[in-house]
Parts: sequence; structure tokens; C-alpha cells
Amino acid sequence: MAASTLPFSSFMIPQSKEKLGVALVGLGYYSRDLLAPALQLTRHCELKGIVTGTPEKIPVWQEKYGIANKNVYNYENMHEMADNEDIDIVYIVLPNALHKKYSVIGAEAGKHVWCEKPMAINVGECEEIINACEKNKVQLTIGYRMHHEPVTQKIISWNKSRPYGKPLKLTAEAGFYNSGGDGTHWKLFKELGGGAMFDMGVYPLNAVRYATGMEPTRVRATIERSRPEIFEADETTIFDLEFPGGIVAHCKTSFSEGLNTLRTECEKGWYELRPFQSYSGVKGKTSDNKFLSPFKGNQQARQMDDDALGIIQNKKPLVPGEEGLLDIRVVEAIFKSAEQGGKEIAI
Ligand code: NAD
Repeated sequence: MAASTLPFSSFMIPQSKEKLGVALVGLGYYSRDLLAPALQLTRHCELKGIVTGTPEKIPVWQEKYGIANKNVYNYENMHEMADNEDIDIVYIVLPNALHKKYSVIGAEAGKHVWCEKPMAINVGECEEIINACEKNKVQLTIGYRMHHEPVTQKIISWNKSRPYGKPLKLTAEAGFYNSGGDGTHWKLFKELGGGAMFDMGVYPLNAVRYATGMEPTRVRATIERSRPEIFEADETTIFDLEFPGGIVAHCKTSFSEGLNTLRTECEKGWYELRPFQSYSGVKGKTSDNKFLSPFKGNQQARQMDDDALGIIQNKKPLVPGEEGLLDIRVVEAIFKSAEQGGKEIAI
């Protein structure tokens, strides 16, 4: 799916470099194990900088990735990047409740912003990020890697071509067993944007939106906790969405069980991706015995190359901030419904 030409006048800092410089902001699991290795495979961008609050990580990252002293920042001096031409993009890979603050700092330093999913923890924060990027004429894209994944792109194209007719009923589930570790990790607590819904639930939510190409209009949701001593934030969230034309989606996300399925039943057949949101091996089958074979490349490298090329070529990103906001709008309604005992809520 090629990015389309920008329909609006925001952005664009001319880019003469062949490879754009990326600074990873937050050097936890996803930066360390997935993004930094993927940035060794990219053609249009490269790892040039780091932002961390943990000084012990600095020599390890500098040695492994050859990062210059002048490209190492902490959260207090990150804004000084404004003067650093090595860095074109900040990639925000922090606890969810910190996405807004550091996306805005990056935008105000004149850097393009890649922000991990979920975009932020409420609609107001998403709007602040979008506004800061528009004001500073920098691109904003959300780290929904599935939009860049070829099998997923095929079924996204089906929301228009509808080879199996109109979708009628969808089922989408994503989860894994989270032991809770030592009980202190931010993903266990609401304050920093923890919980299954923000961590994994945005995958089924985003999937039923891209599989239908529509926005849900009503929701009913419930939250379950089998280990309340571990999870202050939601452990399992079940949500049913209603779309225009009577289409329904049954969704579930959990920190208590492995779940990884997207199934769309349509008027003339069905298709299913299982797994639908893993880092590799996403594959599918259809009611007419077609097999959607897994992509062999690196998802994160493909995502970052698409997004870097979008900046170089002055194209609208595949996953703009508005896409992240649309999910958070639904997440707000999901939490509201759950708080009211599963009451149906208009979105
Ligand atoms: P993590 O806990 O492993 O890393 C978070 C980093 O933020 C750590 O290095 C931590 O030191 C740092 N940090 C800075 N300030 C902090 C504070 N006040 N409290 C706690 N930590 C602080 O988490 P992660 O799994 O790497 O997730 C980071 C982001 O990446 C999240 O938004 C998550 O949703 C996203 N993520 C996306 C994918 C994907 O497939 N797209 C996969 C994993 C994580």
C-alpha cells in the first residue's frame, strides 16, 4: 500500500539525506529487542541517537550500535536535540502515559515523531500530539506495525474489494500470559497506561476497524480480574462493537491467556488470520481454501522504512496520528461501558 500524496499542507522539512537518523526514546524491551535490531536492516533510516534515564545503558548501547556521545540524551535535555542534525526522527517507546509528553518535546525540537501504540491514554492527549506535530510541521505516525505487514495489507484491501461480500460478524482476540513479574512493572498499573486493553486490546480493536473499513458506533464492555492482587489495571477486557449496517465484532484482550485470532464472517464466505498480530508468521486461510502465506521479512524494518520513505518523499504516512486517536476514542468508550457494568455506550 503506497502512501498517498499529502492532502494537507502541514509538514515538511526538506530532506537531502539518504538515511534519516532515528533516536529511540526509552530503551526498554521493545527498543532493545525489536527496534534497534530492525534499524540495522533498514534502507531509509538508521539508529543515530538514544534518550534514556538509565545511565548504565549508555555505554552498552554506544558500544553495540556506535552511537556518538553528542547523540546521547536524557529526559531532561532531550529538547536540546533541536540543534542536532544527526537526528531527524524521535521514536517514542515509553510507558503509554508518557507518549504525549515526549512526543510533544520531540515535535517542538523540530523532529518527526514516531509514537508507539497506543498513541496516548486519552483523546485529549492524542489531540495535543497531533496539534504539536502540525504546528511544528513534522510528520507523525503511530507504531501500528500490522498496517505495514503484507498479509494484513491484503485483508485491509478487502474492506473495499469485499471478495467475500459484506462483513457480518467479526471475532478478534489478542492476549498473552503475563505473570506480573516482581509486581512493579508499569503495565500492571493504570497510572502509566498499563493494562491489557492498552497493551494488547488495541490490536483486535484496530483489526476490526481495518477489516471493516468502518468506525464502530456502539460498545458494551466488561473487565474481569482473576488475579486482582497483581493487576490494578485491567487484566481481561471483553468488548462487543456495533458498526453501521448491523455488523458486529466480538473482541477480547487478556493478560491471562494466549489469544491471537482475527476472523471475519461475510455474506459469501469467511477469512481468518491466526496469528494476526505476531512479530512474524502472520498467516491466513479463507472459506474458498486460499492460503495467505507469512511474510518473510522483518516487520519493524518494513514499518520504519515505509515511514522514513514517507518523510523523504513528503507523503502522508500510512498510519497518521488520526488513526491512533480513533482507537483511543473507542477505548475511552470501552472503559466507560465497563465502569457502568457493561452498559451500551454510543461512541
Ligand atoms: P518497557 O517497560 O520494557 O520499556 C519502557 C522503557 O521506558 C524502559 O526503558 C523504562 O526505563 C523507560 N521509562 C522511562 N520513564 C519511565 C517511567 N516513569 N516509568 C517506567 N518506565 C520508564 O516497555 P516496552 O514493552 O518496551 O513498551 C514500551 C512502549 O512500546 C509501549 O508503548 C508499548 O505499548 C510499545 N510496544 C509496542 C510493541 C509493538 O509491537 N508495536 C511491542 C511492545 C511494546
